Amino acid sequence: MRFNIKKTDLKGMGIYAKESISAYDVISKIRYIREVTRDTPLLESEKHLQDHIHYWPDGRMFIVDEPDTYFNHSCEPNAYIYSANKEYYIIAKADIKSGDEITVDYEIHTTGGDSSWECKCGARNCRGLHRWDFFLLPPKVILNSLPFLDPWFAQVHGEKIREILKQELKG
Ligand SMILES: [Zn+2]
Repeated sequence: MRFNIKKTDLKGMGIYAKESISAYDVISKIRYIREVTRDTPLLESEKHLQDHIHYWPDGRMFIVDEPDTYFNHSCEPNAYIYSANKEYYIIAKADIKSGDEITVDYEIHTTGGDSSWECKCGARNCRGLHRWDFFLLPPKVILNSLPFLDPWFAQVHGEKIREILKQELKG
């Protein structure tokens, strides 16, 4: 592994580069404990795993296993999540220095969120409150995020993305 798990100042555990990582290096393949379904819901003893669920674009839910569950959110992330044939990978978005925390943007692959969450990522351009819906993000954030969207998410929501691009072209 090219990273360590360490305690962070604000966010519990986090993942830190153990060596310098170049932009577009593949950092990790996400592993899951199991799928959460109606027949196999989260157990009372697993309630603490609620924040470790990865929602797929087809609506399925999976509990993320260690160590990938410790990739924290940042509004200015240095890595992104990318899928190929339903396998998920964490890829560097920029050069990452040894010792830097590796973060991803949790909000860019979400839609229809029904809760808000106060962000404490500490980024210069922190968005503050998350509403868990990619399409409610500021237009600039949406456009900047397009190259880093999971292709599966982009395909499922292609029509909405097309509308945004058309609007931008007019504007
Ligand atoms: Zn933030």
